[in-house]
This record gives sequence, C-alpha cells and structure tokens, in this order.
Amino acid sequence: MAHGSLYVISGPSGAGKGTLVNRALEICPNIALSISATTRKPREGEVDGVHYHFLSVDEFEDTIEKDGFIEWAQVHSNYYGTPLAPIEEHLAAGDTVLLEIDVQGAFQVLEKLPQAKLVFIAPPSIEELERRLRGRGTETEEVIAQRLANATGEMDASKEYDYVIVNDDVERATKELARVLEC
Ligand code: ADP
Ligand code: 5GP
Repeated sequence: MAHGSLYVISGPSGAGKGTLVNRALEICPNIALSISATTRKPREGEVDGVHYHFLSVDEFEDTIEKDGFIEWAQVHSNYYGTPLAPIEEHLAAGDTVLLEIDVQGAFQVLEKLPQAKLVFIAPPSIEELERRLRGRGTETEEVIAQRLANATGEMDASKEYDYVIVNDDVERATKELARVLEC
C-alpha cells in the first residue's frame, strides 16, 4: 500500500469538518473520500453506503475480528471504523484519499502509514462550537453534552497534527483546506 497520498481530517463534532470537506471536494473532485462504518443510527437524510455504512454492533465486531478496518474506535459511545480494502485499492491506484475520522483513529492510521498527513479543523471557540452543534439540530441534548465534553480532549490532540485550520469563515477555511490538499 503506498503510492497515493492520504490525508486525515479530524476535529470536534460541530467544528465544520463535513461542511469544509464537501466544499473542498467540489474544488478537488479527484480526491476519494473514504466511507466509514458506524453503529450509530442514521440521521435524517443520511443514506447507507453514501454517508456511512450503517452496521449493527455484531456486524461491526465481526469486521474487527476479520481485520477489515485500517482503524476503528469508540467515539461518543458508538463504534466507527475505516474499511481497509478501499483504502488499499485507492493508494495502489495512486489516488489521493481523504479520511474524516476522530483523533484516536488518526493516530492509528499514522502508525500504519507514517506518510499520512493529519489536518485538524478547529472551531473559533468552544462557545461557537456549542452554537453550531445546537444549530445543526441533529442531536439530542444528551448527545450534544457528550460531544462538547469530548471536545476539550480532542482540541488537545491538535498539537500532534501537521496542519490546524480554524473554521471561522467557511470560504476562507475551505480555500485553506484545498491548499493543504494540493489540488
Ligand atoms: P462536523 O462535521 O465537524 O460535525 P458540520 O460540518 O456538520 O460539523 O457543521 C456543524 C454546523 O455548523 C452545521 O450546521 C454547519 O452548517 C455549521 N457551520 C460549519 N462551518 C461554519 C462556519 N464557518 N460558520 C458558521 N457555521 C458553520
Ligand atoms: P458523526 O456521528 O458526527 O458523523 O461523527 C462523530 C465522530 O466520529 C467525528 O469525530 C468523526 O470524525 C468520527 N468518525 C467518523 N468516521 C470515523 C471512522 O471511520 N473512524 C474513527 N475513528 N472516527 C470516525
């Protein structure tokens, strides 16, 4: 596995990773976005096989046993993991691949593929992060509280990242991400 480039995007829930990645992919259409597996329930509008592969806990644990993930972690009380085979195929084909995963997963990927570049998307402040999470309106109060509680530890991990992009203004931050992705 080693010809293409691999970028890992992380950041606290609500920082705007999905927003920036979607916009950057419009500028950089040749980049392949990895589709993760998760045991969390689909949000309204999320499609199985497009946004995530939605698995049961049994199916997910089965895939772990079969070494089907390049990395996996428990994030906010659910399993999330990156299927290995598509990553191997893309890198062998020389493609640039983007993973949007949490900080635990990012460090697992870096151990296996030291050439991976780590990109952290940070909110301008924790107050703004909370506003965005609530504004998105996709999570219950309990889930929002858990995601905010995890944000501080995630922000700490940004020290280890190659790039930190503060998502203050969407247009500006998108351009910065596209520059980092060199497309
Ligand atoms: P993540 O993928 O990191 O959880 P999202 O991309 O879903 O975050 O963004 C969370 C919410 O914040 C969404 O409602 C999104 O529209 C909004 N948002 C994203 N970037 C910005 C920004 N720069 N300024 C204001 N709101 C933003
Ligand atoms: P969400 O439930 O909001 O889609 O994602 C919650 C968190 O899980 C985010 O921090 C996201 O980056 C992370 N995540 C999504 N897919 C993966 C994955 O495949 N592996 C890991 N480790 N984290 C993931």
